[in-house]
Amino acid sequence: MSLVDTRTPDPKKFIKGATGDWEMVIGLEIHAQITSESKLFSGSSTKFGNAPNSNVSFVDAAMPGMLPTINQECVRQAVRTGLGLKAKINNRSIFDRKNYFYPDLPQGYQISQFKDPIVGEGIVYLDMGKDGEVEIGIERLHLEQDAGKSIHDQHPNMSFIDLNRSGVALMEIVSKPDIRSSEEARTYIAKIRTILRYLGTCDGNMEQGSLRADINVSVRAPGGEFGTRCEIKNVNSMRFAVAAIEYEARRQIDILEDGGKIDQETRLFDSKSGKTRSMRSKEEAHDYRYFPDPDLLPLEFDDEFVAALAKDLPELPDEKHDRFVNEYSITSYDASVLISSRSNADFFENVAKGRDGKLSANWVINEFFGRLAKEELDVSNSPISAKQLGGIIDLISSSDISGKIAKDLFEIVWGEGGDPADIVEKRSMKQVSDTGAIEKMIDDIISANPEQVEKVKLKPQLIGWFVGQVMKASQGKANPQAVNKILKEKLGL
Ligand code: ADP
Ligand code: MG
Repeated sequence: MSLVDTRTPDPKKFIKGATGDWEMVIGLEIHAQITSESKLFSGSSTKFGNAPNSNVSFVDAAMPGMLPTINQECVRQAVRTGLGLKAKINNRSIFDRKNYFYPDLPQGYQISQFKDPIVGEGIVYLDMGKDGEVEIGIERLHLEQDAGKSIHDQHPNMSFIDLNRSGVALMEIVSKPDIRSSEEARTYIAKIRTILRYLGTCDGNMEQGSLRADINVSVRAPGGEFGTRCEIKNVNSMRFAVAAIEYEARRQIDILEDGGKIDQETRLFDSKSGKTRSMRSKEEAHDYRYFPDPDLLPLEFDDEFVAALAKDLPELPDEKHDRFVNEYSITSYDASVLISSRSNADFFENVAKGRDGKLSANWVINEFFGRLAKEELDVSNSPISAKQLGGIIDLISSSDISGKIAKDLFEIVWGEGGDPADIVEKRSMKQVSDTGAIEKMIDDIISANPEQVEKVKLKPQLIGWFVGQVMKASQGKANPQAVNKILKEKLGL
């Protein structure tokens, strides 16, 4: 790999040490389980949660004489993912055997791709808020098999093996060492997950292990030579990724500032202590003796195969973001929130179509998403539909209700359902914009409060008191703009 540094050092990201500033350098290897019915080289089911060893064919159990057959759906998914990462698709790739011995690996090797992966260099854009956009290079994406699982906590002196995962298709997505902070690493994992979910190539479920990351961390003097890295294995949550990186960078800085040097090693993150600990050093690293798998021909496809997949790709997060900003005149930040998932984005579009974009975005983000989060719900099980929320927004736009009444209406629709316009009609929640009615209320208030009228003439800001009285008299339904205007006229302000 060419370790070219493409980024300008950013002082905001420097870490203070006793001897000066330090900069983190991070590269991630993300393992993503491909969404497919069956495994990479066998027809066994990939269903999560089935009884141990029930998703296992002779191929997955590595019975003698069994031969792998490539699953075309997994190839399609890997190519689609490569396209989503704006990466080079390699029409010819090679499956290699990666040899190691472990109880959960019955073949004695894992079929992977080494020198010739299915996907080459690509690029992922991170929106770092006020720090702007950051580009992270993708080195490669390759296909490989998952291993089985050893279970050590079921019996006092025996271990069990569950081969359900054995042979399940994984994509390993390797980034360039372009990441410069734990926050960027978190954003990168989240972005990759969003892209995979948009494509439907991986469910992104980190708790179930469908997405996990090996995190390479080194530190250096800002802009200097890359330092020696340590690799933290199998991190399965974004919070742990941030904690592991922060701990690991600090550990390395302390060693270097004490005049020591970093040993290249593989480490594990212990989520209970928040620390990383050594698993094996580079000297103990496996020699995997990679060689092309003689049971598999090179994987080849033509440009038409790729073009057909490219044509059917859904709109991806970056493109949707930019379209939302242009089409609905909303801020980049609002667009980022709205595109966080396809279903959220679809909900917003159903609300915003034919309505004011900014007003729709505000209501979807603040009231609707806020309320969903509070109740631990998402759009799929929301008690309020896009049509209903759109109805509430229509009533605001037509000045039938004020923003304040709209919030009450939102609560009613959320709790009881129903058509917003009907509810407003039935419960007479419409705001009074009829100037005659407002004038009458104001006249009454003025004649009942001569002292306040004297005062407001000397101190115009006391108009607030009058506005309050009118709102009270109208049970919050008087149109505030009309009230202000008429009050000013009548009080001669
Ligand atoms: P390996 O096969 O040993 O894991 P790779 O060359 O595939 O090595 O690199 C693995 C990951 O390590 C990549 O994501 C890469 O960006 C990252 N990486 C390489 N050098 C460094 C470094 N000095 N500091 C941090 N990360 C690095
Ligand atoms: Mg590695």
